[in-house]
Amino acid sequence: MADNNKIPNPEVKCVVNTCTHWVPGNICGAGNIDILNEEVGKMSKAVEQTMCKTFEERRGLANFVGSADNVNWVGFAEELVGVGRRLNPTVTCIVDTCKYYHEGDLCNIDSIEITGENAKECQTTDCATFEYSGKPSKNEKLQHSREKGEKFR
Ligand code: SF4
Ligand code: SF4
Repeated sequence: MADNNKIPNPEVKCVVNTCTHWVPGNICGAGNIDILNEEVGKMSKAVEQTMCKTFEERRGLANFVGSADNVNWVGFAEELVGVGRRLNPTVTCIVDTCKYYHEGDLCNIDSIEITGENAKECQTTDCATFEYSGKPSKNEKLQHSREKGEKFR
């Protein structure tokens, strides 16, 4: 179950319409998204080097059900009945070379945009809001363990 108490947490706008979590209106229906560096051991210095690792290609119902443990069901229900709280995932980001990176693998900006229309793999997606801070990274080890499939925090 996603941790829904992340502070700070940005509003997520996503145009990746081929993702199983994508909802019309450029909304992400995932419970949590993981933003990583595209290449292991190469910390991002540009937008193209980031990716939304939570991307899963939409291939029909089986694929959607397979991702059901990472769906913001409460947000879905509230969006449907118009409670007014927007459907929005929590964001876990290990790209600590970004200006907006916040200690604890959080993102400290009001909103982010995930790009990569028609993507077929997560490497084609980007966090378009990334801005290089020029600082060295402390998160390379974490990225290595994540890529090996170990639990991400
Ligand atoms: S690509 Fe990422 S942000 Fe976009 S809908 Fe998929 S999981 Fe959500
Ligand atoms: S804006 Fe920066 S800190 Fe926020 S999710 Fe994108 S890469 Fe991570």
